[in-house]
Amino acid sequence: MPPETVEVRRSTRRRRTVSAYRDGDKTIVLLPAGLSTTDEEQWVRRMLDRLAAKEQRRRLSDDDLLDRARELSTRYLDGRALPNSVRWVENQQHRWGSCTPDHATIRLSTRLRGMPAWVVDYVIMHELVHLLVPSHGPRFWALVERYPKAERARGFLEGFSMAASGSAEEC
Ligand SMILES: [Zn+2]
Repeated sequence: MPPETVEVRRSTRRRRTVSAYRDGDKTIVLLPAGLSTTDEEQWVRRMLDRLAAKEQRRRLSDDDLLDRARELSTRYLDGRALPNSVRWVENQQHRWGSCTPDHATIRLSTRLRGMPAWVVDYVIMHELVHLLVPSHGPRFWALVERYPKAERARGFLEGFSMAASGSAEEC
């Protein structure tokens, strides 16, 4: 699991329902009052697994990714980045995303699946900007920062990389 922010809310009324949902970059888990700490931990874990599984089922196809990319380009890059294809790839263990500017193709690591949409959008945005600016210079970052959650998403991915491999990675 990515290092997400989980907020546990205990119902004050005697409701027996347990539920979980995403609220921006937070995950809210609703639990009935009066659970023991051990039960609470188990329920939280179970609900997070269940939520992640649900999100996996409705994960984005390559066509959806291309649509996302075009939307992001229109919204933040005045439509200047024109991707031809955006697709998931399995064989990208050390990078979240990559691109080939000559063909305007973008590849995303399948490790991003199940991460919050705003994090996936950040990686798409990063690669879209590479279609315009190849290197990580000031001009590059100025464009990336047009995406409002860029810094937050970078922090999220860094935390994830550190947890998984002990080192940060970039794309
Ligand atoms: Zn990059």
